[in-house]
Amino acid sequence: MAETLNPRAGIGMTSARTRGRMVERLREQGIKDETVLTAMGAVPRHLFVDQALESRAYEDNALPIGFGQTISNPYIVARMAELARHGEAGQGRPLGRVLEIGLGCGYQAAILAKLAREVVSMERIAALVGKTRVRLRELRINNVKPKHGDGLNGARDFAPFDAIVVSAAFPEVPRDLLDQLADGGRLVMPRGGAAQALCVMERQGDTCTERVLEDVKFVPLLPGVA
Ligand code: SAH
Repeated sequence: MAETLNPRAGIGMTSARTRGRMVERLREQGIKDETVLTAMGAVPRHLFVDQALESRAYEDNALPIGFGQTISNPYIVARMAELARHGEAGQGRPLGRVLEIGLGCGYQAAILAKLAREVVSMERIAALVGKTRVRLRELRINNVKPKHGDGLNGARDFAPFDAIVVSAAFPEVPRDLLDQLADGGRLVMPRGGAAQALCVMERQGDTCTERVLEDVKFVPLLPGVA
C-alpha cells in the first residue's frame, strides 16, 4: 500500500517482483520461517539506502549507509529474525517487545517491527538516529522507537525483552543485555573481533544457554555515543 504512494517505488529493479525474487533466494539459502519471508517480501529495502544504490538494494550484499556503517545483506537480516523468533527451522512465535542494538538505516528494525509488537532500537550515532526516525515516520512504521545511546547498556527502562538482536559485533555478550532478556527470551548477536560467529543465547529462568552458529562479518559495536 505504502509502495503505491511513494514516488520512488515501482520502477524496474525496486519493484515488488524484484523483492519476490529476493524472497525465493532466501528460501534457497535456507530461511524457512514463512512469517519472516513475508516480512522480507513486504518491506521496501530500496527506500532504506541512498537513491544512487537503490538498484542494488535487493542483491545479496551489504551496502553502505553513511557514517562508515553498512546495512547487512538480506540473508543475515532474515536469519537473525528467524533465530530471534524460534531458533531453528519451522514457524516461530510472535514477539512482544524486542530490543535492537544498531538501528543504522532502520531496515532490520522495520523487519523486526513486522514480527513484534514493539521494537526499541538503540543507535550510538545521533545523526543516524535523526535521519532514520524521519524515514520510519515517512514509511508509517509506528512501532519502532529509535533511541540515541550506547547499546552496550541495553534499554533498562523498556526491559524485559522477548528478543534482543545486536547488529554489530562484540567479543563478549554484554552483561546488561543478558539481564534484560525475558524468561524464554533470545539474544542473537555476532560475537568476536576480526573473526566472528553468530551466537544465540537463550534464557530459561536463571540459566542461559549459548549456541554458536555460522561465521559472519559485521561492523564492530563501539562503546559510547557519537
Ligand atoms: N541494523 C542496521 C545495521 C547497521 S550497522 C540496519 O539495518 O541498517 C550497525 C550499527 O550499529 C551502526 O549504525 C553503528 O553505528 C551501530 N552501533 C555500533 N556500536 C553501537 C553501540 N554501542 N550502541 C548502539 N549502536 C551501535
